[in-house]
Amino acid sequence: MRFENLEVKFNKEEIKIPVFRFGKINSSKRLVVLGGVHGNEINGIGVLKEIIKYLSNSKVEDLLNAEIICLPVVNVLGFKNFTRRFQNQDLNRSYSSNPSDLAEQICFDIFNGYIKDATFCLDFHDSGSNYELLLHSRIAPNNPLLVEMTKAMLIKHTLVRKAKPGMLASFAANSNVPVLTIESGGGARLHDDYLKKIILGFKNFLNSYSFLNNKIQINIDEISNLIELKTRFKYKLSATAIVKYHVQLGQKIKKAQLICTIYEPSTASEFQILSKKDGYVFSLSAKNIVTAKKTACHIALDCCDYNVNSNPEIFEVIKIT
Ligand SMILES: [Zn+2]
Repeated sequence: MRFENLEVKFNKEEIKIPVFRFGKINSSKRLVVLGGVHGNEINGIGVLKEIIKYLSNSKVEDLLNAEIICLPVVNVLGFKNFTRRFQNQDLNRSYSSNPSDLAEQICFDIFNGYIKDATFCLDFHDSGSNYELLLHSRIAPNNPLLVEMTKAMLIKHTLVRKAKPGMLASFAANSNVPVLTIESGGGARLHDDYLKKIILGFKNFLNSYSFLNNKIQINIDEISNLIELKTRFKYKLSATAIVKYHVQLGQKIKKAQLICTIYEPSTASEFQILSKKDGYVFSLSAKNIVTAKKTACHIALDCCDYNVNSNPEIFEVIKIT
């Protein structure tokens, strides 16, 4: 393992970003793994911790026939302050060819220093401070390689969406570097189940793309078909309420299934929220209090055009008391 600090400078500002490099330095076969692009997404940072620990085992590193570069906390300032952004800039909207501030310079230097010549890039995120997301990848439409990478990571759900301008996934596509964005959990809680699945998937990824001289032994459960989620709908609260959930993240739900119960203490009113369609539980609040105008849950469907807007038609609200 070789450690280095990437020193990024813009005008008089400077920041150091830690980088851990494993295997054959400057190999033409290269995997770049990112965590903490958003400083408040601790699950991605937790994934990088385990990957670095795994690769630091000399028996594993000796088997590598490629280079693996790990940046466990890209947004060092955001992590320090527990904020998503870096100096009020989103580091996953700051990729450009002409950096105009320190945030864009960070993205520029990471891209040109490590990602531009990479074979693959894995970018680990979570839902941030308030929500938990089911474990899934995010892929561009009609991209068989990203589907294949998702399957190699043993991930069962993917959200098909067009990456926005300035995102690493869209910027890297111009250089033909496949970037798989992986989301898992959130709410500032480490999601151990997802972490275990991701580390198993990472080992399978190394096997699938022959990053090791010998395949490593892993026990994989039966592999199910990848579920491609095409759209998601949110249920927003009109008033601050206590929310009790009757489903779990990732659960397949049926039409008319009870999702959550909402209690508004000021009027002693209780409501049941039911799904009007078959779908999957995509996100839940990490806390059982959700404030007015915030989202209580997302349901994702494996059909229809991509749509992230709220759609009351998908939820049925029944007043109980
Ligand atoms: Zn993120």
